Amino acid sequence: MPAPPCTSCHAARAALRRPRSGQALCGACFCTAFEAEVLHTVLAGRLLPPGAVVAVGASGGKDSTVLAHVLRELAPRLGISLQLVAVDEGIGGYRDAALAAVRRQAARWELPLTVVAYEDLFGGWTMDAVARSTAGSGRSRSCCTFCGVLRRRALEEGARRVGATHIVTGHNADDMAETVLMNFLRGDAGRLARGGSLGSPGEGGALPRCRPLQFASQKEVVLYAHFRRLDYFSEECVYAPEAFRGHARDLLKRLEAARPSAVLDLVHSAERLALAASARPPRPGACSRCGALASRALCQACALLDGLNRGRPRLAIGKGRRGLDEEATPGTPGDPAQTPTPKAVPTF
Ligand code: SF4
Repeated sequence: MPAPPCTSCHAARAALRRPRSGQALCGACFCTAFEAEVLHTVLAGRLLPPGAVVAVGASGGKDSTVLAHVLRELAPRLGISLQLVAVDEGIGGYRDAALAAVRRQAARWELPLTVVAYEDLFGGWTMDAVARSTAGSGRSRSCCTFCGVLRRRALEEGARRVGATHIVTGHNADDMAETVLMNFLRGDAGRLARGGSLGSPGEGGALPRCRPLQFASQKEVVLYAHFRRLDYFSEECVYAPEAFRGHARDLLKRLEAARPSAVLDLVHSAERLALAASARPPRPGACSRCGALASRALCQACALLDGLNRGRPRLAIGKGRRGLDEEATPGTPGDPAQTPTPKAVPTF
């Protein structure tokens, strides 16, 4: 049976039925609608003001590739300029190939690209070295916990180096729904309360961050990349199978099979979530070492690096974090500032 006509242009044959609305569209009309929706997200949320210098966190994967491409299309209307910022976590057999995809994109789109490496920023620590260290302490499953914190810091540093005023990341609706589920499963009220917004306004001197694809489903991101013939890297990180996120992803897939709107419902429910005053985490202060926003004596990045440098990575995550903060009270023997010759000193 021939495909029905596109319900938008009525000229071409429909190439897909939109997962969210069921609308039958040709590839060109779908891409136009997708870009219009991202534009609406940016304008309605006042995410990127005219004149903004926007650092796009570029990983070479489908999400950041689609984000960079869409923002490049929208940049003249928004009055913004773009910089690609890629983070080299030092993951052998994975990141080199992904970075090659980012370099091809930068050349094809004529966008400036800056690469910042964990090894340079974090005193020699690469993710592979972190993985070896955490495996030795029986915490090999926590690689993504370390990487997520360090990655955020590295992207901030890269964005500052290029003079960016804003940071955007390619998180899509499925990523956001997984994060909401993970925060519920961990009982992390503080992250739940923060996680629903379209980004962070830039507390404590950090650059404002946003996620323009937050309402775009993963399926539509893939379809957009397909119809725009985008070149992206699609292999999974070698440490991803260990991540807790995989359980949330499996659960979400089952939920979505039973209730197709489950992904967006979760994203919107997080937006509307309000914590009782008694459940709100205390206002964050400044990290005693680097000055970044911190809810304890040390920010997460400094705490993780301290644990690694002491050969005790488990101190920096989970329940052990408490022990580290106690040791980190300035002026006490455990104060990291007094620890003799640490291997790594963060350069941020
Ligand atoms: Fe880092 Fe985990 Fe992502 Fe790999 S999967 S890049 S270790 S956060």
